[in-house]
Amino acid sequence: MSEKVKEKGKSKGKGLLESRVKEEIRALSAYSVPRFETRIKLDGNESPFSLPVEVSEKVLDKLRGVDVNRYPDPEAAELRSLISEINGFPPGGILLGNGSDELIGMLITAFSGGTGRVLYPTPTFSMYGISSLALGRDVLEPELDHNFDLDMDRITALIEKKDPDLIFLASPNNPTGNAYSADRIREIIGLSKGVVVVDEAYSDFSGYTFLPLIKKRENLIILRTLSKVGFAGLRLGILYGRESLVHEINKVRYPYNINSFTQGAAEVVLSNHEFVSENIQLIVRERDRVYKALSGMTGVEAYPSDANFILFKVKDADSVFKALVGRDVLIRNFNKPGRLGNCMRVTIGTPYENDSFLNALGGILSP
Ligand code: PMP
Repeated sequence: MSEKVKEKGKSKGKGLLESRVKEEIRALSAYSVPRFETRIKLDGNESPFSLPVEVSEKVLDKLRGVDVNRYPDPEAAELRSLISEINGFPPGGILLGNGSDELIGMLITAFSGGTGRVLYPTPTFSMYGISSLALGRDVLEPELDHNFDLDMDRITALIEKKDPDLIFLASPNNPTGNAYSADRIREIIGLSKGVVVVDEAYSDFSGYTFLPLIKKRENLIILRTLSKVGFAGLRLGILYGRESLVHEINKVRYPYNINSFTQGAAEVVLSNHEFVSENIQLIVRERDRVYKALSGMTGVEAYPSDANFILFKVKDADSVFKALVGRDVLIRNFNKPGRLGNCMRVTIGTPYENDSFLNALGGILSP
């Protein structure tokens, strides 16, 4: 290392190791999930339903057979072939991640060979920005329109002028809850010369998927996850794309990214998935009930949702958040200046949990 470089590292942080940390990372805040011990937990967009006993027994049987002294199957071949069968998608076009968080990181690592720019409309899921900035990409953040739908004028202009390598569209979007107009998504896929990722983390609750479009559009990637439908603890994200693209992304995947327990447990739950569909239907019915109840409350503006959570606005989100925790109910507070000012997000839980939340909120707003 040259003396000049040594001196720079030494003087900048006055000998502190922080000066060695990449500047983009020092400027970031970590993805944080505040921990509160409440009886009712509706903050993480998880499913409230655990495994039925008979499936749980099958999972335990499977895990007993795991050779924990051996590395997992690096290709997770059995699991990928099961996912392929269920979705009618070729196994070569399927890549698994330790949650879709990991897949987002892989995509940003792999696709930056053109302009190095990543576009995602905001407000949206924070990991697109965190991973892009950590990897030194330039980010383009056009705002969503007044309905939280894609603002085609802004996005078209950015695609034309800045030609991003990668575009992330979460549909349904987190934290706004709405699915974007399908026509607008299709138009963006057609306009972009880079890769367009439709993140369908919540598509089980909207009933709409772009998966079949991969046959027609070579620049389309779909992301899914098991986290929202009952298996957040397994950490399993699924990426679908053309084999030629998946082949490139696979080069930046860590070899044993899906551990043996996750592979085994996921194989069992996906082979016994009827209960998952029933739970999804119940969540969708509950979502519509909670939306109606929220919309009828004075001082609440609820936004329509196609996901397993609802975004809503109150007059003073910080004090409502504190009061809800005081009543043993945890939801997510998004209050910060801008579009999400005084906005909060509640995950749909069991009917009992939803009633507890609605009663607590009603009591706080009209004491
Ligand atoms: N995409 C979106 C839109 C999300 O909201 C989330 C979870 N908050 C993820 C991806 C990540 O999901 P996971 O890593 O649990 O698969």
